[in-house]
Amino acid sequence: MKILNKKLIIAIDGPSGAGKSTLSKALAHQFGYLNIDTGAMYRSISLLAQQRRIDPHDSDALKILCADLSIEFVLRGASEDVLVNGVDVSDAIRTPEISLLVPQIAACPVVREAMLQLQRKMGDAGGVVLEGRDIGTVVFPQADIKFFLSATAAERGRRRYAELQEKGIDVDLQQTIAEVKARDAADTARTLAPLMQADDAIIIDSTQLSIENVLQKMVTIVKAKQAELAG
Ligand code: C5P
Repeated sequence: MKILNKKLIIAIDGPSGAGKSTLSKALAHQFGYLNIDTGAMYRSISLLAQQRRIDPHDSDALKILCADLSIEFVLRGASEDVLVNGVDVSDAIRTPEISLLVPQIAACPVVREAMLQLQRKMGDAGGVVLEGRDIGTVVFPQADIKFFLSATAAERGRRRYAELQEKGIDVDLQQTIAEVKARDAADTARTLAPLMQADDAIIIDSTQLSIENVLQKMVTIVKAKQAELAG
């Protein structure tokens, strides 16, 4: 059957620092799609939990927090702001403290269930690029295209370090690399929706590639899929 201009569901999974955020935004922009940064959603809950001094193991309190949560992505020029309950938290969710807290909050079943429902609601109609850890395996196993982006931990740590330096956040490079590895381990080891590549994912190792190179590869694959569906 020919499907003209089908609005695709595109999943981009992978560990932190592999370039998912930049590429997901660029790819969404290229096709006029909505970009959904699911890591920002888990970070947002973690920020609220931290502000309200909720223990990461307190499922009841986290459930109440999720029930009363609104998360919006707002495009402002090239940047995408994250609004939680109407408040811009774009910078506050990216501190090293929140990066360390988020795997614990993201391992909580009530949090994952709430995010799963929210992400499916946001992406169901297609025309979306979702980036995360479990998009191709759990959230949208039927996604039209699944990318799995990787890079060595040392390279990803260097990228995170440069990002934080640029924002004026002073951190130690070796410690940043160690934190990247610790987060990978926590995200991969958890029993619920761990960081994992789907069997049918297209794997791209970005260690030696520029963002432009990877974007080109992705765009070619998306266009090929559109052509295939259009018959
Ligand atoms: O992508 P980012 O580094 O912002 O994600 C922050 C954290 O959110 C990850 O380390 C992981 O613990 C959690 N996460 C998740 N599932 C997703 C996206 C992010 O568990 N789909």
